[in-house]
Amino acid sequence: MFKRSSIFFKDLIYLKKWDIIIIFIILVLAGSMYFFSFNKEQGGVAVIYVSGDKKETLSLLEERKITIKTENGYNTVQVRDGKVRVIDADCRDKICVNHAPVSFSNETIVCLPHQLIVEVTGTEASVVDIVAQ
Ligand SMILES: [Zn+2]
Repeated sequence: MFKRSSIFFKDLIYLKKWDIIIIFIILVLAGSMYFFSFNKEQGGVAVIYVSGDKKETLSLLEERKITIKTENGYNTVQVRDGKVRVIDADCRDKICVNHAPVSFSNETIVCLPHQLIVEVTGTEASVVDIVAQ
């Protein structure tokens, strides 16, 4: 009887230890998410990829509108007010057209039917670094 209750007591301590660890992990995750959400970096350029190949690099500082032709159709990409968006496309789902404009680093707009990706990255200088690698 004594032995049994002591095992129970041990288990209880063990559980509590894990509770504390889990709570700690959740706090760290929540804290880092909070930190990153306030550290969103305004991107400098939008890079357009088709089937993984880099097609165009657009500065977010310059208003511009270009049409990218892919094997499967076209996407018209517009830069305006420091944001990039797909304003027109002949893809079947129109998910890219309906996507909100993006302007922060690492934000993307994807057009799956055309295998087109618009990705916002840091500054023009950081893009040069990527190319140099
Ligand atoms: Zn699309």
